[in-house]
Amino acid sequence: MRTISVSEVTEAVRKACGEMAFFYSTDILERMEEGLKNERGERSRAAMDMLLQNAAIAREEQIPICQDTGLVTVWIHAGQEISFTDGSLKEAVQEGVRRGYEENFLRASVVKDPLYERVNTRDNTPAVIYCDITEGDRLVIELTAKGFGSENMSRQKMLKPSEGEQGVKDFVLETIRLAGPNACPPMIVGVGLGGTFDYSTVLAKHALLRDLSQPNPDERYAKLEEELKEAANQLMIGPMGLHGNTTVLGIRIETAPTHIAGMPCAVNICCHACRHREIRL
Ligand code: SF4
Repeated sequence: MRTISVSEVTEAVRKACGEMAFFYSTDILERMEEGLKNERGERSRAAMDMLLQNAAIAREEQIPICQDTGLVTVWIHAGQEISFTDGSLKEAVQEGVRRGYEENFLRASVVKDPLYERVNTRDNTPAVIYCDITEGDRLVIELTAKGFGSENMSRQKMLKPSEGEQGVKDFVLETIRLAGPNACPPMIVGVGLGGTFDYSTVLAKHALLRDLSQPNPDERYAKLEEELKEAANQLMIGPMGLHGNTTVLGIRIETAPTHIAGMPCAVNICCHACRHREIRL
C-alpha cells in the first residue's frame, strides 16, 4: 500500500490553478498560430493576432488569459492501492483550488445557490469533482477551468440510434452555429457519445482535455473528428465571430457503451481559453 499525504494534493492543485489561468497549452497555441496563417480577412487576422498577443502578455506577466477564470472541474483517478493520510482527499482538492485562486488573484466566479441567493463563495470553490478508482498505486488528477461564455452554449440531445453519423454531425454543427460569437471562438469542441443522458455530458467535457495533436485512437472517430472540424470551419464564424476560416481549433470525441434504444450526444463548447492540466503523483 502506497501512502500519499493529501497536503501534496493541495499543493499540486494550487499550482495547477495558477498555471491554467496564465499559460495556454502548446497544442492550442500551435493551432492558433496555424489559424493566423490561414486567415485572409483583415478583421479576422487582427482578431487572431490579438489573441496571440494576449497569450504572450499573459505568459510573460503571469496574468490571466481571460477575466473569466472559470469554474474548476476535477477528475481524480486514484489507484486502489493508495492510502491517503492527513485528511480528506476531496477537501484537499477544494483547498488547492481555494489557495490557487486567492493567491493568484483570479476571479471568484462561483455562487453557492444557483437560483435564489446567488451569493459568491468568494474563493471559487466548490469545484466539481469526479472520482474514479483505478488499479495500482498511481494518482492522476485532471483539471479544467471553464468559462461560462462557452459553457452556456453547450447542449445535449438524446439522438435515436437510427439517426446515425449524420444525426451526430447535424447536432454538433447546429450547436457550434448557435454558439457563434457568444462562445469566444475559435472554439474547441468536446463531444460525448453514448453512456446515459448525464454521462454523455461528462464525456463531452472530458474530451476537451485531450491534446489537439492526438486524434481519437479509433480511426472511425478520428475521421469523424476531422470531418466535423472541416465542416465547422466552413461555417465561417471565425476568430471572435469576425467571419473567418478558424471557427474551431479542434473537435474531440469520447464514447461509451450505451443502451440499445438510444444514442445520447452531448456537445461541450469551449472557447480558445481551454484551460486544463494533468497532475501525476
Ligand atoms: S468564453 Fe472563454 S474567452 Fe470568452 S469570456 Fe468566457 S472564458 Fe473568456
